[in-house]
Amino acid sequence: MTADRPSAPSAAPPAPELVDAWLHLLATARRTVTDGLVVGTSGNLSVRVGDLVLITPTGVPYDRLGAADLLAVRPDGTRVHGTLAPTSELPLHLAVHRATPATAVVHTHALHATALSLLHDEVPAAHYVGGLLGGPVRVAPYALYGSRELAERTVDALRDRTGCLLRNHGAVTYGTGAPAAALDQAFDRTAQLEWLCRLWLTAAAVPGARPTLLTDAQLAEATERLAGYGRQDPRSPRDPQDPQDSPVTGD
Ligand code: 13P
Ligand code: ZN
Repeated sequence: MTADRPSAPSAAPPAPELVDAWLHLLATARRTVTDGLVVGTSGNLSVRVGDLVLITPTGVPYDRLGAADLLAVRPDGTRVHGTLAPTSELPLHLAVHRATPATAVVHTHALHATALSLLHDEVPAAHYVGGLLGGPVRVAPYALYGSRELAERTVDALRDRTGCLLRNHGAVTYGTGAPAAALDQAFDRTAQLEWLCRLWLTAAAVPGARPTLLTDAQLAEATERLAGYGRQDPRSPRDPQDPQDSPVTGD
């Protein structure tokens, strides 16, 4: 059995493509703080480059990290570069990289997403942007942070989805494809999921309100239309691994 724990790091300097991806990972991590999706050192991110996973360290504010802190592990958790201890959610990140097409994973404690995880088993279909996550977003049952149980429950909740909530904890989303684009996509999915949760909580908080919801058919129709959304060139190659990146169909 492999352990999701680091061993002795490599003495060889990291390849330039690893450094580029690490700097994009740090920039994305800092956005989770400046955009109010986490407080302090909550949350963590990872991105896959070839056979390695770059991952944020545990308990270190992102604005104190630089190129020299690059931390890379193999899919079995063996450390290849870096000296800082990886995030406590290393098992969750590695499990998502193993079980889904993810090449980037973003975990936050975004306030409205976390609040909604206390109230529902699924994010209510309040808006078509829910389709950006592949369909109704599930809430994974509670498990202790950093545990293998939480990793397994997250993978279950991500089936055919690119995001999920973690009960009484936060949110996880992923992106696919090349490192920088995958990080941007995972971040955008987190921001959209947080907005969707905020929308629902705002509407549901009106006294006596009974907010309308999309039907399953309406959400499915929007999910289909959102596939390939924003692509400037409809002939550009799609990512066959991404559940959300399908060819654009004509009207
Ligand atoms: P780390 O600082 O270990 O990444 O922990 C933050 C967190 O969100 C745990 O779930
Ligand atoms: Zn967390």
